[in-house]
Amino acid sequence: MTIRPILLVPMLLFGWGAFSLHSAERSWTNSSGKTIVATLVEIAGDKAVLQMAGKNFEVPVASLSPDDRKFIDEWKKGDLTDPSGDAAVKANWDAPWPALVSVDIEQAIEVIKEDEAAKEYVYASPHYEFICDVKLNTSVVKRFSLLFEATNQVCRELPLGMVKPFRKERHKIHLFETREAYIAKGGPPESAGVYISRGGEGDILVPLTSLGVKKVGSNYSVDYDKENTTLSHEITHQLTDAEYYEPGSRGWFTEGFAEYIANSGYRSGKFDIDDLGKLKARVTAYGEDGNGGRALGEDITAPDLQQFFTQEYDSFLANAQLSYGLSALIVYYYFHMDGDKDAANLKAFLKALKEEKTPPQLFEPLLAGRTWDEMEAAITQGWRSRGVRITFN
Ligand SMILES: [Zn+2]
Repeated sequence: MTIRPILLVPMLLFGWGAFSLHSAERSWTNSSGKTIVATLVEIAGDKAVLQMAGKNFEVPVASLSPDDRKFIDEWKKGDLTDPSGDAAVKANWDAPWPALVSVDIEQAIEVIKEDEAAKEYVYASPHYEFICDVKLNTSVVKRFSLLFEATNQVCRELPLGMVKPFRKERHKIHLFETREAYIAKGGPPESAGVYISRGGEGDILVPLTSLGVKKVGSNYSVDYDKENTTLSHEITHQLTDAEYYEPGSRGWFTEGFAEYIANSGYRSGKFDIDDLGKLKARVTAYGEDGNGGRALGEDITAPDLQQFFTQEYDSFLANAQLSYGLSALIVYYYFHMDGDKDAANLKAFLKALKEEKTPPQLFEPLLAGRTWDEMEAAITQGWRSRGVRITFN
């Protein structure tokens, strides 16, 4: 699940500062020939947000020189290397598919702020900032931060061209002592955590109970290693590049991808990617006890594939169990079964999203010369050999 408020509130209003993809400083020239040296922070609609001397300001992209606009196009594609040579954002398209992904379980936790009066406690792991309404021991933060760091590591290692996992700025996670406080800040009742997107950027909200953090005496401790399908799903949403949420991809790809990671076996800072048995079981069985299972059975009737890919997100959510389960199967198919089993067609589809292609052209790389009927048949055949029968309408 993702929530995208219709109103896109400028992030500076929230006081979180500017998010940066750490592209390097460069000089920018406008149509009247004026040149400034600034860093590109983000593209907001038809405006470029540039940072100069610590301040952000917006410039219409159309007012910039052809070179600048070309730079922005490359930047959006995410294959831009920092010319200074360090801290380069090089989108990962070519690495081999990871199998086992792990992070150091002894990573340092930094105390950023412990403000008793404001009830704001901020802790940081290498790529995350945890903003909490109660004081926590760093040993507790270290333990639950592993799931976040490991999910981040998976998103770096998967060759899907995403740049958000590489962002220098730490991703923000808001933690709440009580479910009431979580719901008051926008957490959906009954949910274990949520990613709230604001124009492709966004924060994750999580009640501490979802992380297995409990109050013992006057302290908090982690009393169990919670297997957390929901959270790794939401963490994946936060790391997924904004372009992948565009129509034609949002829904089947974004949710299927989040399900793919969430259903990979996780334990203590390690993900066993490509654990087909678990993903298949989650989709076909289990589902009675809110454990993330979809309970679709091994004989699945699916909607027309093209309609499934192009439907509105609301319609996707209206039939959630089928939509999420089927999306996981389809994404798995494109990752591991399609073509030469190298995800080439899916990667070409993601590149088309980065190039702002829209349906129906957007689907050309995915179809790779096949008709929609042939595409459905290929997915059906792929899964049949693994014991799931999908019948498209
Ligand atoms: Zn989701």
